[in-house]
Amino acid sequence: MLNKKTIEDIKIDGKKVLVRCDFNVPMDDAGNITDDRRIQSALPTIEYIIKNNGKVILMSHLGRPKGEAKKEFSLEPVAKRLANLLNREVIFVDNDNVTGEDANKAVDDMEKGEVVLLQNTRFRKGEKKNAKEFAKELAELADVFVNDAFGTAHRAHASNVGVAEFLPSAIGYLIKKEIDVMGKAMSNPERPFMAILGGAKVSDKIDVIENLIEKVDTLLIGGGMMFTFLKAKGYEIGNSLIEDDKVNLAKELIDKANKKGVELLLPTDVVVAKEFKNDTEYKTVSIDNIPKDMMGLDIGKKTSDAFGDEILKGKTIIWNGPMGVFEMENFAKGTESVAKSMAKSEGTTIIGGGDSASAVDKVGLSDKMTHISTGGGASLEFFEGKVLPGIDAIDNK
Ligand code: ADP
Ligand code: MG
Repeated sequence: MLNKKTIEDIKIDGKKVLVRCDFNVPMDDAGNITDDRRIQSALPTIEYIIKNNGKVILMSHLGRPKGEAKKEFSLEPVAKRLANLLNREVIFVDNDNVTGEDANKAVDDMEKGEVVLLQNTRFRKGEKKNAKEFAKELAELADVFVNDAFGTAHRAHASNVGVAEFLPSAIGYLIKKEIDVMGKAMSNPERPFMAILGGAKVSDKIDVIENLIEKVDTLLIGGGMMFTFLKAKGYEIGNSLIEDDKVNLAKELIDKANKKGVELLLPTDVVVAKEFKNDTEYKTVSIDNIPKDMMGLDIGKKTSDAFGDEILKGKTIIWNGPMGVFEMENFAKGTESVAKSMAKSEGTTIIGGGDSASAVDKVGLSDKMTHISTGGGASLEFFEGKVLPGIDAIDNK
């Protein structure tokens, strides 16, 4: 397993601890936080540092201000919400430059157990370029660096990778949890090990499929990408989503699964619709009966049941990608049904991917899963078997 230092391996007492969090929370137009789960996920690390008499200096990005200070991307609302959640003061350094005199002063004035939050790191052009200058300025504020932002771990930026060059470093509890659960699944899963893959396009998920096919016992495929696979098997798919240039790849993947003895399950029935909208004519048909003028927007009931039976046999189940256009009520049933089967499973259930996580949340089953990754893109790269630079940059034990 990964041999990175964790927050428990470093000295905290009296130290200035710079923590990279993922406070990239959704907000409405008025600047109200609409979902604070990412802030909540950061609490264990922050509270640990407070309890151990450290000084907590927090940083994060928010949205895409493109290297400029833009009011609507200020972290001020996050500072307020965090203060509520921690039930203590959070000193917000509202400096367009993120680092500089105000930040130095705020940090110099800190007592043990106090919390400072810096301004949005993406107000600086150097952040996404992983500029040494900016990384060094951040590092100079502190004695140690803790990375707890799993959501950006697949990016090499100044505030998560660059800064680790200049300070002793460790991972926080959130990253630890993410890589403990998902790392075990990828390297040493309890079997049967299965993956459920869906979402819109095969092309988004090629690397995920190719990596998982080497590891799993069973692969269930739904979502928009199923039609490229169905076409590869010779079915007529009407107006469904298709990537013609990926049909050959789908054939190769089917062959590979066969050769490796991986059971690859494709839908046997689908919900087809006249148009890509909720209020349109729709019906369930068998896959050899997809009308020319209709498009598949969900897996059918028979498929949901078959997938459900399969899921209940699994000891480790990874799910990425909704089974249908779950944003539309009429085409959400397949995704809901898979979520329910996952919730019933007594195995380890892991959800990765932004839309998949929100689909599970929508049906109120988040609590029933072993792990829902907080990183959309990062969890995908993890499933692809890639090394995440934000984790790689941290000191080894
Ligand atoms: P994740 O964010 O979990 O990785 P993706 O972004 O790959 O998932 O896919 C989610 C999107 O796939 C959803 O917006 C959903 O509407 C779309 N989708 C699922 N099934 C279909 C389908 N049959 N046709 C078109 N789009 C689909
Ligand atoms: Mg998505």
